[in-house]
Amino acid sequence: MTRHGLAGQSATREEALQVLDSSNDELLSVIAAAGKIRRHFFGNRVRLNYLVNLKSGMCPEDCSYCSQRLGSQAEIMKYSWADPRAVHAAVEAGIGGGARRVCLVASGHGPSDREVNRVNRMVREIKDQHPDVEVCVCLGFVDDEKAASIKQAGADAYNHNANTARSHYGEICSTHSYDDRMNTLEALRRAGLSPCSGIIAGMGETDEELVDVITDLRAHHVDSVPVNFLLPFDGTPLEGASDQLTPQRCLRILAMVRFIHPDAEVRASAGREMHIRTLQPLALEVANSIFLGDYLTSEGAAGAADLAMIRDAGFVPEGLGSLVQLDAASPIDQAVPIRHRGIGSELPANV
Ligand code: SF4
Repeated sequence: MTRHGLAGQSATREEALQVLDSSNDELLSVIAAAGKIRRHFFGNRVRLNYLVNLKSGMCPEDCSYCSQRLGSQAEIMKYSWADPRAVHAAVEAGIGGGARRVCLVASGHGPSDREVNRVNRMVREIKDQHPDVEVCVCLGFVDDEKAASIKQAGADAYNHNANTARSHYGEICSTHSYDDRMNTLEALRRAGLSPCSGIIAGMGETDEELVDVITDLRAHHVDSVPVNFLLPFDGTPLEGASDQLTPQRCLRILAMVRFIHPDAEVRASAGREMHIRTLQPLALEVANSIFLGDYLTSEGAAGAADLAMIRDAGFVPEGLGSLVQLDAASPIDQAVPIRHRGIGSELPANV
């Protein structure tokens, strides 16, 4: 499987299922094998992506995992189109923090012509000011005409996640279909936008369904694959779900995605903090991309903590240049903390 991966060839369905079915005892071997492929195509670089939520909540669609869905009681921030000055400030913060791809996202079924024009203006402004930064747009369903317009404005990529397998899709959404999503992916490709599409694991899907959707995304020639792990928001139908996920299971899922998409950007995305937890540095051995900072409606890790994790694990942020001082917060620059608690003190021990 590793040999095929190094040659850019996908794992078979059976091989991918074996990866998901492997034991914890085999986990480090699986990660090492997937890591060889990751380093072959991406070296020790980690791409940092930054999400800018242009429009939050109030979506007419009913994706059951989504805090912005129709009828969601999740106590998220809800707002219509953000003020361009706020967008500008968010974009600058993300780029200043080290992001080399900015993702402009808006909730909803899909954009009107006017909304496409609005976002196109933002794309042009970012590309004018930061020509080396990639811009990804995520506005829901688009047809050929809208995709072409977004491409013409200078966007590099468009995100439209598959989220789950065709056979599981009816369980998580009733207002649109899996094929609707695939049709948009095809429109993006025809327009020359780099297609970005991934999954949310932990929604009650089977191993076969995980492999099916990841394999189907390969057939749709996606360039980047965000792998999200369900954030079970209170106030959504999947509140409290996701007990399928352990740190080890998440790492096996990332490895499976790498074996099927050897040369694509694999992104450890939302939910990594909650579900991979202290094993996140191992995720970098397989995934070559993460989001920096917060997600659309939930908080992520502190940017400085993620940069420290990248450095400590021996990786470097892609295209970092001199914008971010990676060593600024290094714990080795700090004095050894002297114990003043437990035996010999009046304070309780550290447990
Ligand atoms: S279409 Fe997007 S924003 Fe709307 S409910 Fe589904 S995932 Fe959430």
